Amino acid sequence: MNDLSLIGEDEMELYELTICELHDKLKKREVSSVEATRSLLARIEAVEPRVGAYITVTAEEALKSAAEADKLIAEGKSDILTGIPVALKDIFLTKGIRTTCASRILANFIPPYDATAWLKLKERGAVLVGKLNQDEFAMGSSCETSAFGKTRNPWNLECIPGGSSGGSAAAIAARQATATLGTDTGGSIRQPASHCGCVGLKPTYGRVSRYGVIAYASSLDQVGPMTRDVADCAVMLGAVAGFDPKDSTSVNLPVPDYTQALVRDLKGVKIGLPKEYFIPGLDPDVKHALDQAIETYRGLGAEFREITLPHTDYAVATYYLVATAEASSNLARYDGVRFGHRAKEAKGLVEMFSRSRDEGFGPEVKRRIMLGTYALSSGYYDAYYLKAQKVRTLIMHDFIRAFEEVDLILTPVAPTPAFRLGEKTNDPLQMYLSDIFTIPVNLAGTCGISVPAGFSREGLPIGLQLVGRPFGEEAILRAAYAFEQATEWHKRKAAL
Ligand code: GLN
Repeated sequence: MNDLSLIGEDEMELYELTICELHDKLKKREVSSVEATRSLLARIEAVEPRVGAYITVTAEEALKSAAEADKLIAEGKSDILTGIPVALKDIFLTKGIRTTCASRILANFIPPYDATAWLKLKERGAVLVGKLNQDEFAMGSSCETSAFGKTRNPWNLECIPGGSSGGSAAAIAARQATATLGTDTGGSIRQPASHCGCVGLKPTYGRVSRYGVIAYASSLDQVGPMTRDVADCAVMLGAVAGFDPKDSTSVNLPVPDYTQALVRDLKGVKIGLPKEYFIPGLDPDVKHALDQAIETYRGLGAEFREITLPHTDYAVATYYLVATAEASSNLARYDGVRFGHRAKEAKGLVEMFSRSRDEGFGPEVKRRIMLGTYALSSGYYDAYYLKAQKVRTLIMHDFIRAFEEVDLILTPVAPTPAFRLGEKTNDPLQMYLSDIFTIPVNLAGTCGISVPAGFSREGLPIGLQLVGRPFGEEAILRAAYAFEQATEWHKRKAAL
């Protein structure tokens, strides 16, 4: 069991403050952004050799932007994100700063422009401290497929942090960034958030621009925040959400002030418990945490009813057809010609293509390209890809029907707490199955959040998932906030 301690506010170091807490100190001029950034950089230096959350630490640039942020603050021109040190999954393009997507094929890629989500934070004065580890091209659930080494779970260094945004979650848990951004195609924000004891929100498809985010499966990919608490999550979501003419899938709807949703009252809120998600295979510690959470919600005035999402059984298979098909197409651009790794000594163009890809991609990425190419090939397209699209529609309808009866859906995030490093690397199917409760939300295109809801007997964090209607981010934030305020789970810290 880890040494879990509740740390009082007076003992807090700058590197462990939330956005809201740090903003308060910056505004009152009690501390400067340079001091906060230095504190974080020192923390990274101290724990990074054990955690491995970062691919690139941008110390020099960070101190420069922190000094600029301090100037803005002095001139009274700051807002809540000015001077706040953040870090990004290495899937977000950052102008002039290496962006690898954790792949050898992009090991030396320096993007010429910024991803919109990052640009929105940067324009408000956020300070970038570095780029975070992930599964290669966001393909994985454990952060073990990165070409840049493994990230460890700060709660137990023998365990995985979850994936694919494992670095983004571990950096929060290890207090190596104030807030981070991740991406979620099949659970990659919510599952690592659950495993590392932080808050992670996957917005509705179309809510946040993916311009400048390296594409994995374009009909599923979505950007979202990972933070220490729900209030910070609301701040970050509000900052990155919104229409972007550069992403044709982004939706032109006004962005509400999500912090206004943070009220404790849940009277009359109807929450659905899908019977297909509370299965015998569920780990007893996860089940216990969820049972307790349901009691807490009852105490807050919520009403529960059992619902059905009848096509749940087909979600993982459907996802692995749709996602791999799209990946095989998206990853065709890495040909050694325009950017990325190019094989030396290849004879002729075709050999150059194939050798560059062979040398540049890791085994999991190759497996997905092959699966996806097969599913799209003539003769198999109807049997696999087209069929998967039809099942996807049925899954979407499951949610639409459920939301006629209830306001929110409460589920586990993952069937078990974080597993051991190496435990599932030789069994892709077992790895894929760990996303069973998160994948349907991506297929349905709606939003979900993971909030800390307890610990296993071994001391590993367990999250609960709240799923909302499309563009119902305010409702899930509100329910997450009410739960957080009624519990102490988010206050525990990994002893590192
Ligand atoms: N684990 C899932 C996969 O490997 C989801 C990844 C993600 O959401 N990026 O595809």
